[in-house]
Amino acid sequence: MQTYTLIAPAKINLYLEIIGTRPDGYHELAMVLQSVDLADQIAVRANGTDEIRIHCDHPQVPLDKSNLAYRAAQLMAEQFPDSFENFGGADITIHKHIPVAAGLAGGSTDAAAVLVGLDLMWELGLTSTELQELGGRLGSDVPFCIAGGTALATGRGDALSPLPDLTHLYVVLAKYRSLEVSTAWAYQTFRQQFSNTYVSDVNTLENRRQRVHSGPMVNAIAHRDGAKIGQLLHNDLERVVLPAYPQVSRLRQTFEQQPVLGAMMSGSGPTVFAVAESQAQAQQVKEAVKAAVPDPDLELWVAKLISTGIQLASPIK
Ligand code: ATP
Repeated sequence: MQTYTLIAPAKINLYLEIIGTRPDGYHELAMVLQSVDLADQIAVRANGTDEIRIHCDHPQVPLDKSNLAYRAAQLMAEQFPDSFENFGGADITIHKHIPVAAGLAGGSTDAAAVLVGLDLMWELGLTSTELQELGGRLGSDVPFCIAGGTALATGRGDALSPLPDLTHLYVVLAKYRSLEVSTAWAYQTFRQQFSNTYVSDVNTLENRRQRVHSGPMVNAIAHRDGAKIGQLLHNDLERVVLPAYPQVSRLRQTFEQQPVLGAMMSGSGPTVFAVAESQAQAQQVKEAVKAAVPDPDLELWVAKLISTGIQLASPIK
């Protein structure tokens, strides 16, 4: 049996606006999502049993049914019972490189990789749209993780419009190893504190969506203008996460003092990133931040913005 090895990139948010509440109760969001080349590696292999098994040596990654990669395989088994019966279960090995609970969609991208891997292994020939529809049932970041690149995401974050690539730019990412922020906590706290500003009327929601579609960030991306993009970085969740985690706030300030195009927290945090116009500049900023924050708990990465989502690494016999 073949092993399918997939590259599953992390995402950052260049823009995250919480517009209001949708009729279905979810938050209405407007985000610019961006894939970076910090990635997990996922190996999918038929195991000839009727079980889905997760293997991962990262202490924060669950190996049971709560793993999003497991849930992705379970969804595929439910949707394609004949294939599940023909091929049997699967061993899914996650080589974790993306920090966990970091606002980088680590679990979502692993799930996206399993959908793509099982589609290949079971020779289903699903379209990208079909895979994204399945992904949306697992979590709102999963559809983006399948296609990757640069995209405007509205609705729950799963209505995607592709944007021009930004592959000339780099980021420096930083996260305190022992610090985790729950995405659910961040959104709930935002709702508690700011729901008085929420839009819920359907027409107004649509207007606000359109405002982002034709707004300055999308325009800066259309011109691939790194300096403008850096100035326009925005994340509403900073309003609840930064006051609760002063360490993250200080880290963001340290980045802003560097020669970068802009700095921001990604998603629900606590990862902070800065945009740089070259790999050399990103590397220098990484060293400068490391020197300014001599804390062994702080991890830093340089990553390139990429135009792809889940990619097949190499089929191994
Ligand atoms: P998002 O930004 O999409 O909310 P995140 O990057 O903040 O996600 P994840 O790395 O996906 O967060 O982890 C969130 C929680 O999900 C973890 O605490 C972990 O217990 C659980 N989890 C389930 N499956 C995975 C997985 N494959 N990889 C990492 N964490 C997982």
